[in-house]
Order: sequence, then structure tokens, then C-alpha cells
Amino acid sequence: MSKKRVAIIGYGGMGGWHAKHLLVSDVCELAGIWDIKEERRALAVERGIHVYGSFDEVLADPTVDILTLAVPNELHMPLAIEALRAGKNVISEKPVAMSSEELQKMIDASNETGKLFTTHQNRRWDCDYLMMKELYASGKLGKVFCIESRYHGSRGIPGDWRTEKEHGGGMILDWGVHLIDQMVGIAYDRKVEKVYCRCDHLLNTEVDDGFKLDLYFEGGLTARIEVSTYNFIALPRFYMAGRLGTAIIKDWKDDCHVVCCDKWDEENVTPVVTAAGLTRTMAPRDDKTTTESVIKRPESDVHEFYRNVCLAIDGKAKQIVTHAQLMRVMKIMEAAFRSDELGRPVEIDDVIC
Ligand code: NAD
Repeated sequence: MSKKRVAIIGYGGMGGWHAKHLLVSDVCELAGIWDIKEERRALAVERGIHVYGSFDEVLADPTVDILTLAVPNELHMPLAIEALRAGKNVISEKPVAMSSEELQKMIDASNETGKLFTTHQNRRWDCDYLMMKELYASGKLGKVFCIESRYHGSRGIPGDWRTEKEHGGGMILDWGVHLIDQMVGIAYDRKVEKVYCRCDHLLNTEVDDGFKLDLYFEGGLTARIEVSTYNFIALPRFYMAGRLGTAIIKDWKDDCHVVCCDKWDEENVTPVVTAAGLTRTMAPRDDKTTTESVIKRPESDVHEFYRNVCLAIDGKAKQIVTHAQLMRVMKIMEAAFRSDELGRPVEIDDVIC
């Protein structure tokens, strides 16, 4: 299979990431970049990357198979639709769009033109996520009733377009989109029934600089997704609790630790001493009734994303990040914004996909 040629639109932070990976890709090659900023174009030239003269020039290049859009969020929809109509396959950065209405227009353009359209949900290849996904599916923890997924940062929102609503700023659209996508990927067999979200506005009134989002799945599973940009001590990255066991991943680079209860009854419970007196109810279990194990971080290769896109263009595989999944996550984000506005949980009509 000959390599697919990719042009990157927007050579900023993430455009640079795509370029670096495309330069060593086994399925794609970098055709070039286009950025409206002179200094970003100059940097590309310095790095030996071909620079197009305009967006239209990229569209007019018949050797370009795929456009990767790494521009601020409000530009994903107009540029994607223009590129699809020009006969290009399109990868949009996340969040795919600013609303489900916008996303529907992008999906329609893809269906009308028969060109591939997908989004770079690259955190589907994160090792912490893959371990949680595998653990949930294995059934080892019994009936799972709680999952918590957090990113606690301490540097505020980057001081660029991410602070402004018109560009699709805020942490729900920036990081929430990844964590929601991961959460519905973990709890793959359940629908979300209700959504409750509270946004933080610690320094930003225009957009959220963090949020706490609870997803109430059918069958008694509550998932907490939390992003903060002002936490100087971070809570664990992932936590999962089931009727038979509990698992934790403390940090990005950690393995997953699991404690399972294999004997419910315990004979001699040593009480815990608290200021108010002794408690047996909250006393930790001893190792006679529990078993500890470790799930090692799996191998993961981010190049799988572009490999899948290339196979899907040639009709040899289904695209991993599907339109239905993108729409599902977008609708959950919209419900989160609505819940925050109303100050109460909102019901949603979710579909497993
Ligand atoms: P950035 O500000 O660093 O870069 C954006 C670039 O787009 C800038 O160089 C800007 O000049 C250029 N640009 C703006 N309008 C343009 C236009 N009309 N045509 C061509 N270029 C234009 O932002 P970033 O951090 O690279 O984010 C870009 C996109 O990537 C966003 O959608 C963001 O959410 C996404 N992103 C994804 C991940 C991920 O892990 N998947 C990580 C970071 C950012």
C-alpha cells in the first residue's frame, strides 16, 4: 500500500505533534502544512517541511489524500466541510465541533461526498485508560458501581484561545471530551441516563477552567469525571470500585493496583481508633480476606490512529473513531453545559455505540 499524503492545517502545538509523528509514520507521509501565522510557516521551512501558500492551495493539490485540522475549535466545522467538498478525507482535532448541530453538518458532508471524516481521539491509546477498560470488561471487580477519572493540573488554562468562548475554550471541550470518550469506552455496555455537572470559574468567567461531571449510567454505575487546573496536590488518575474489588491508577505512568475481596466474612476485626471512639465498620481489611494484584501498563502505539484511518479510506477496516461515537460524546458535553446552567441533573437519551 502506498503511503497516504497528509497536509496539516494549523502548525501550532498540536500541528507540530502531527508533523513529528507523520515524519516517522509507516502509512502516511507529510505533504506539508498551512498556517495563517507567518512565524509558524517560517518555523516549518526551517524544519524542512513544505509550506503551502494558502488553504485553497492545499485543497487544489491532487496528491493530498488527507487534511488534518489542528486549528482552534471554532474552525473545525467550516474547514472540514470545505475540505470534504473538495474531495479530501478529513481528520479534525478534538473536540470535533462546538455543538451537535455543527457535527451533524460535518457528518452530512462526509456522507454526501463519500470521504472519510473522523477525529483524533488519541487518548484511546492512553495506557491508564486501556488498563481500566480491560479491567471493567474482565468482570474481575464484579458489578462495578463507581468509576472516577481525573486530571488535576495546577497551571490554569493556557492563556490562548482556550480562555475564549467564541473559539470553543474551556476545559469541558478541551479535556472533558477525552475523558467522556474514555468513560463511555470503559463502561461499554451501559447507557448514560442522567448527567450532573458543575463548572469552576476560578479565574475565567467566560469559560470553565475545570468541572466536576457525574454520569449516571443504567444499572447503578456512577462515573465521576473531574478536571481542574488549580490543584497543587492531585487526586489519583483513575479509581474503580465493584462489588468484589477495587482498583486504582495513581498517576499517568503507573500500573493498576487491584485489591479483591475473596472472603467476605472476617473473624477478628481490629477496630480503628478515631477521635470520636472506635469503629469496626470503617476498619481496613487484613490480607487474610483480600488479594492484591497488579495490572502492568500495556504496550500502546499512537500510530495506530493513522494506520486505522488509512485502512478505512481503502475500505479495509472500519474507522475506529466513528460518527456515532463523536455524536454521543458531543451530546453528553451539551448535557453537561445544560446541567451546569440549570444547577441540576438532566436526563439524556443516550445510545450505546
Ligand atoms: P495552537 O494555538 O497551538 O495552534 C493553532 C494553530 O492554528 C496556530 O498556529 C494558528 O496560527 C493556526 N490557525 C488559526 N487559524 C487558522 C486558519 N484559519 N488556517 C490555518 N491555520 C490557522 O493550538 P493547539 O494546541 O495546537 O490546538 C489546535 C487543535 O488541536 C485544537 O482543536 C485543540 O483542541 C487540539 N488539540 C488536541 C490535542 C490532543 O491531544 N488530541 C492536544 C492539544 C490540542
